[in-house]
Amino acid sequence: MDTKVWIVDKSVDNLVGNPQIVDAAQILRDNEVVALPTETVYGLGGNAESDEAVAKIFAAKGRPGDNPLIIHIADRAQLDRFVLEVPPVAEALMNAFWPGPLTLIFKRKPGVLSEKATAGLDTVAVRMPDHPVAAALLRQCALPIAAPSANSSGKPSPTTAAHVLEDLNGKIAGIVDGGATGVGVESTVVDCTEEPPVILRPGGVTQEQLQAVIGQVNVDPALMKTEGEARPKAPGMKYRHYAPNAPLYLVSGTREFLQSLVDEQRQKGLRVGVLTTEEFVDQYAADVVLACGRRSELETIAAALYDTLRVFNQRKVEIIYSEIFPYSGVGHAIMNRLEKAAGGKIITE
Ligand code: AMP
Ligand code: MG
Repeated sequence: MDTKVWIVDKSVDNLVGNPQIVDAAQILRDNEVVALPTETVYGLGGNAESDEAVAKIFAAKGRPGDNPLIIHIADRAQLDRFVLEVPPVAEALMNAFWPGPLTLIFKRKPGVLSEKATAGLDTVAVRMPDHPVAAALLRQCALPIAAPSANSSGKPSPTTAAHVLEDLNGKIAGIVDGGATGVGVESTVVDCTEEPPVILRPGGVTQEQLQAVIGQVNVDPALMKTEGEARPKAPGMKYRHYAPNAPLYLVSGTREFLQSLVDEQRQKGLRVGVLTTEEFVDQYAADVVLACGRRSELETIAAALYDTLRVFNQRKVEIIYSEIFPYSGVGHAIMNRLEKAAGGKIITE
């Protein structure tokens, strides 16, 4: 299939009615799938009420059928069509963070959304993206849109249209290219069917920010455990994810220790990559040393993370060592994605 590319300038005032958006929305209404920019990463959207459209999302990504999708809406009123109840904490979180990188889990009304989209669960994950192109497309097509990240399952999530095409060209009907995304890591997923609510996936909105609005918020204990023993409540969190082609090792220790690991592999003749930040990019001797943002501003690391992992693929390294980052604020999301990308491989000095 030919993948159509619509280039849309996200700074234009009101994109509803824009010919590119009208065209893409019609294709969504025809139950085809279209990639779209959001403020987190690019999503692969399809009509959440259609089994046919949702099946196309899973097929294009090669995503396991037991991993439910997040439903994207443009309007708070859409929620009541497919959600049984909105608890007061969820109402408070929506008021504080929507539109934005926060996904909330609700009890689902049966018979409205495709069962495939929710992987047969009696709950549903919903968010309202804070991106002018996503918002316009959602309004234009007037449908709830199921949209996982627009990458092949297991690969780093896409933060540019070029990343989407790398993985899905020829497999999807189109892509709306609205430039690079902002936050760079996916939304925070919070289960509001529990009291107090539970973070199932760390993301763009931090635990501290959530607690400032509603008081206690717990973290799914499975997120703290190493691969294998974990039984996370978000089905997707059990899969290896976000991975570059070469094996990735996280290194907990000094820069000298990381360098010694690099030297060992280079002596064996391997092409070695190092993932660090701008502060220390000059301090390693390896085949490919990449800076991913600045350690002093964790948001810049989140924004650059997935692109940096993909650059290691282009530079054809055979093994990658990465520094680790502080578990504070968006650092939780960064480390969660790196741990998944590494398949839990951490070397401690
Ligand atoms: P992605 O679509 O790649 O952003 O991943 C969505 C994440 O939300 C995955 O980890 C899913 O398992 C999780 N998720 C979606 N719906 C639910 C649900 N109803 N209950 C728990 N987790 C969910
Ligand atoms: Mg994903």
